[in-house]
Amino acid sequence: MVDISPTALGSSATSDIFQILRDGRPRTRTELATLTGLARSTVGLRIDSLLQLGLIGPAETAPSTGGRPSSQFALTGGNKVVLAVDIGATHVRIAVSDLVGRPLSEDAATIAVTEGPEAVLDWVITAGDDLVQRAGRTLEDLLAIGVGLPGPVEHSSGRPINPPIMPGWDNFDVPAWLGAHFSVPVLVDNDVNIMALGEREVAWPEIDHLIFVKVATGIGAGVISRGMLQRGAQGVAGDIGHVRVSRSSETVCHCGNLGCLEAVASGPALAAILSEQGLAAESSQDVIELVRSGNQKAIQAVRQAGRDLGEILNAAISLINPSVIVVGGAMAQAGEHLIAGVREVVYARSMPLATQHLQITQSSVGANAAVLGASILAIHHVLSPESVEAMVVDLADAAAR
Ligand SMILES: [Zn+2]
Repeated sequence: MVDISPTALGSSATSDIFQILRDGRPRTRTELATLTGLARSTVGLRIDSLLQLGLIGPAETAPSTGGRPSSQFALTGGNKVVLAVDIGATHVRIAVSDLVGRPLSEDAATIAVTEGPEAVLDWVITAGDDLVQRAGRTLEDLLAIGVGLPGPVEHSSGRPINPPIMPGWDNFDVPAWLGAHFSVPVLVDNDVNIMALGEREVAWPEIDHLIFVKVATGIGAGVISRGMLQRGAQGVAGDIGHVRVSRSSETVCHCGNLGCLEAVASGPALAAILSEQGLAAESSQDVIELVRSGNQKAIQAVRQAGRDLGEILNAAISLINPSVIVVGGAMAQAGEHLIAGVREVVYARSMPLATQHLQITQSSVGANAAVLGASILAIHHVLSPESVEAMVVDLADAAAR
């Protein structure tokens, strides 16, 4: 079971009853009143609403002798589920999860994001229908969809904004396309942000200051500060791939600038550097294979990429003082060489107080971080006080009709 910490998506209602019951532990009315600071009457009303919605139930462990109803309640989620979608440059991963983040059914396919939004999202619709059925649920049980995309996203509208590797997706209304079929809220974010969420929930639930760096075809970071994902004003917070690295001067980046981090340290950049040196390297995977086979040129190139990344992270460390930096994405499979390069520069150059307890480590969640993060994005939305209140209103409307 995933321990879903309450604040990663910025809910201000951490003291709220819904947030407390999300850990799955049964509690009494009195405990909930104490924990939330709400009046017992308010707690009672909210429990009634949640019971009616089927989101919580009487706890099975409570004594039931004497015919008295159980006085403990726990999140059950009932049959309710969310759909999690991780759209990468060349793949789509999708899962149906219950409301505590357990995947019930999963699927994956090799689809290029360059095929365009209609083709990719139509696959998601077909696969989503199938997965809901395989999980033993119906579309009535589906409450929300979380989607990660490999480019900048305006989170409020769910639209990709000038995504460099996603032709045809600019300003595409992803929530409307999926919502037309599934009729549920659709939350969209960039893939690095959802990976940061997934990694934090699984590996670092107690850590409030974390940077997740994805090094793959592109380079980007997801920033969690004070327990909250930081998207910034336009949703591009953490977009470190196009910061200029000091040593590189004339390497042209696909963004049009010279010497960007992504132009010298991404998987394709390393493949290009190695193929110039006469090695058979066309892709990130080729670079990883060369490193694993012990090729010295490949190891040196990856280590230098780590140093370049470390240089940019130094500035980030000074700005937000994280306690954990996690390096993930395909290139993290190159193992300790990349991390070693990062550490070499960060520990040499950052202020001692900032690095005293700083951990720099490889992703432990790996390829599933994004799809897990997408499910958490959807679950946080479903279980937010606003969403639960909206469901309560719908319930009352339905009863009045
Ligand atoms: Zn660039």
